[in-house]
Amino acid sequence: MRQEKEVLSEYRAEQILRKYIPIAKSQLVKRISEIKLKLPLVLKIISPDVVHKSEVQGVRIVKTQEELQVQFWALLHRARKEHIKLEGILAQEFVKGQEVLLGIVKDMTFGYMMTLGLGGIFTEVLKDVSMRKCPIRENDAQEMIDELHGREIFYGARDRKLDIAFLKKVLMKISHIPEKEKSILELDINPFMLNEKGGKAVDARIVLSR
Ligand code: ADP
Ligand code: MG
Repeated sequence: MRQEKEVLSEYRAEQILRKYIPIAKSQLVKRISEIKLKLPLVLKIISPDVVHKSEVQGVRIVKTQEELQVQFWALLHRARKEHIKLEGILAQEFVKGQEVLLGIVKDMTFGYMMTLGLGGIFTEVLKDVSMRKCPIRENDAQEMIDELHGREIFYGARDRKLDIAFLKKVLMKISHIPEKEKSILELDINPFMLNEKGGKAVDARIVLSR
């Protein structure tokens, strides 16, 4: 049986996720003058046609007012040239931290499963992820962290201890999302920026059944 699916843009996915976990502050805008957030910012092309924004050079970090002007226009130009139908440009707060991948997938046999991984080569090359059935408790969250081969990253391998207590809370909250959002088939938070004191999601994708 083929299932009808709807893939939500980052902006729409984050509107839903804001109810559950910390998300970077952002505004979806059509012009620069609407932007109220302070620099540094990340600008992103938001469109139903674009799933991987960086593949179309649709993500730009801007640190100065001048870069903001240049990159904002560059993104609009890029969208026009590639015939991308724009929902808008997302101006998002820049968040420092270690990139963590958090996800949920609905398995037809096992129900909702959640995954945890580390950003970059850890997940993409080494397939270093841990999984649990939703919902999870604190000890499950701790086990998910400790099952990763790259776990030392959390405990200070790069001269900083990441906020594991906070990550565990976020993992637990995410594991309860399917109870509230019943039509969810997939959730990908890639990345969640985890730092020494908390963290925030800076990209998300949700697939709904309809
Ligand atoms: P894509 O659709 O290509 O996955 P992302 O929104 O994940 O686009 O952005 C690509 C990369 O840019 C992220 O993996 C992260 O490294 C960086 N990035 C995106 N948003 C932010 C942000 N708000 N703060 C800091 N870095 C960010
Ligand atoms: Mg991403």
